[in-house]
Amino acid sequence: MTQSVLEPSIFEMSRPGASGLSLPPVGVEEKPFDSLIPPEFLREDAPRLPEIAQLDTVRHFLRLSQLNHCIDKEFYPLGSCTMKYNPKVCDYYGMLDGLTRLHPMTPDALSQGTLKIIYTLQQYLADITGFSAVSLQPAAGAQGELVGMMMVKAHFQQIGQPQRNEVVVPDSAHGTNPASAAMCGFKVVEIKSTSGGHIDLARLKAALSEKTAAVMLTNPSTVGLFEKDILEITKLVHQAGGLMYYDGANLNAVMGQAKPGEMGFDVMHINTHKTFATPHGGGGPGCGPVAVNQTLAPYLPVPLVDFDGKSYFINADRPLSVGKVKAFYGNFEMIARALTYILAYGSAGLAQVSQDAVLNANYLKACLQDDYQVAFDPVCKHEFILTNAKQKVHDSHLSTMAIVKRLMDYGYHPPTVYFPLIVAEAMMIEPTETECKDTLDQFVAAMKAIAEECRTQPELVLNAPHTTPVSKVDEVGAARNPNLNYFKHQG
Ligand SMILES: *Cc1c(COP(=O)(O)O)cnc(C)c1O
Repeated sequence: MTQSVLEPSIFEMSRPGASGLSLPPVGVEEKPFDSLIPPEFLREDAPRLPEIAQLDTVRHFLRLSQLNHCIDKEFYPLGSCTMKYNPKVCDYYGMLDGLTRLHPMTPDALSQGTLKIIYTLQQYLADITGFSAVSLQPAAGAQGELVGMMMVKAHFQQIGQPQRNEVVVPDSAHGTNPASAAMCGFKVVEIKSTSGGHIDLARLKAALSEKTAAVMLTNPSTVGLFEKDILEITKLVHQAGGLMYYDGANLNAVMGQAKPGEMGFDVMHINTHKTFATPHGGGGPGCGPVAVNQTLAPYLPVPLVDFDGKSYFINADRPLSVGKVKAFYGNFEMIARALTYILAYGSAGLAQVSQDAVLNANYLKACLQDDYQVAFDPVCKHEFILTNAKQKVHDSHLSTMAIVKRLMDYGYHPPTVYFPLIVAEAMMIEPTETECKDTLDQFVAAMKAIAEECRTQPELVLNAPHTTPVSKVDEVGAARNPNLNYFKHQG
């Protein structure tokens, strides 16, 4: 990516002698470094650090942060990611000193509060999902999937059916599903979805055999539809001797309405950073708990927090466990945030969250369906897919990418594009429940204005974005040849 034209780098702002802090003179005798550090470890040149005053540093990074998009700045309809607003109360409790400063090796007796938080969230998530046991260890949804697959594998080893080495995944699945199964050594069997975006029962039946270990499903699916045949599907898979994995990334659409455990699933992951408030950008940190029924409970990772009626304790004595998947308690601050969120909303509030998320998505879909082609017609859950079919008739270059780049000029983060793969030129829009009607109406106005531009001045759309600090970027080039070193860049 080219350097922003608006903001010099911090190295260019550097002025010899400028300093960001002033410290009192050292009160002890200074020793030369080479008497303390073996000479081979001493650097030969002084580090090339920028010299800059504190105020200029703060302003520099604040300006940089404003060049980025974030949910606190504007609407962020990134489908599948549930970019909802995170109430600040969750940050407040997640960052309490008593929680963040606890040493992870503190004995159970001295960390009862922390253990109670973990135990309580385990219980709440089990209740919300309809499962019997939960581990909060995995650091993200993808790691939850991997742990889920490890448990499935351990189970079939344990019951003497190691020949079950296939995992069936629909072609609409998030890429992490087949990746997690493959990383666990399973062979991935992909099945094609129906033209309506649903699981094809005939193809599913044909894919099941004595080799089937599990079927991984997302519900509502990645096209934003509830799998109407879900009970039939879980029954078929169980009859074939396989287990059912539920990708819970879309829990925001169903919590308080339906429980995956009661749909016949055996294991699921939850993305607390999608459903239960944690800022999730820049790659983390996340929290991807796994929930299981009685069949898989013995395999949950260690440690699990238990309660003996008097005190909370870390239960590491679980011989069939798949083992440890993350250090200490997992990403504990995310656990504290998720618990805060659940307690703040209460059960009626969580059910309302899902209803509002679905209502907002259907409202947007209804407002936009005259201007953009809707990929799947029925009432959607929390997200829906549009395509560029109505735009490309005006100019064949008017791709989904061009349309969403233009959206950036209107101040919005683009929706998820080109996913799921089963819809050509997909734009996947998820408004979430935290947006009010005014915001949705403004977004609709922008989308309609772009549809009009596609008709009357396609060049304007094709050359977008026009107002961002950096215009079109070479995404492939940036990924293949990342330029991460300022001095190297300078030559
Ligand atoms: C986000 C997502 C995942 C992966 O979760 P991470 O927490 O990002 O690792 C898996 N499946 C679906 C459908 C998702 O949207």
